[in-house]
Amino acid sequence: MEQTLSIIKPDAVKKNVIGEIVKRFESNGLKIKAMKMIKMSQKDAEGFYYVHRERPFYKSLAEFMSSGPVVVIVLEGKDAIKKNRDLMGATDPKKADKGTIRADFADNIEQNAVHGSDSVESAKFEIPFFFSSMEMVN
Ligand code: GDP
Repeated sequence: MEQTLSIIKPDAVKKNVIGEIVKRFESNGLKIKAMKMIKMSQKDAEGFYYVHRERPFYKSLAEFMSSGPVVVIVLEGKDAIKKNRDLMGATDPKKADKGTIRADFADNIEQNAVHGSDSVESAKFEIPFFFSSMEMVN
């Protein structure tokens, strides 16, 4: 069993597709271990994306991620990290496979509907960034 962090980003929350995205996780064998809606500050988002601090889109990404509420979710399942990345599709929705979350709901390479941990190491940083052990009740 593996755990991964998913974020339903502000663009998807605004589009009212939280339920449709969660349904894709559940119907593909991923279990919701913890979930909540939050609004990050610019500083919170910069902290979360610290690994990207040298990239040209860092400030803009943090601004977008703090522009409205997001839903943070801990998903659990066999190969959860890869399974979630497969369901998400490529970073750029124009390049994302048909039927993936980003192909169906994302606007552009930045406002791309969902985040998903890309490795075990990232998941180990990202899950406790948002959730305490008391919140992992399921
Ligand atoms: P991911 O793992 O597929 O989310 O992609 P990355 O880790 O490479 O990038 C993190 C996030 O930064 C992406 O999900 C996008 O929201 C944003 N991003 C990535 N590449 C670009 C880019 O070229 N331009 C802009 N504006 N944002 C980007």
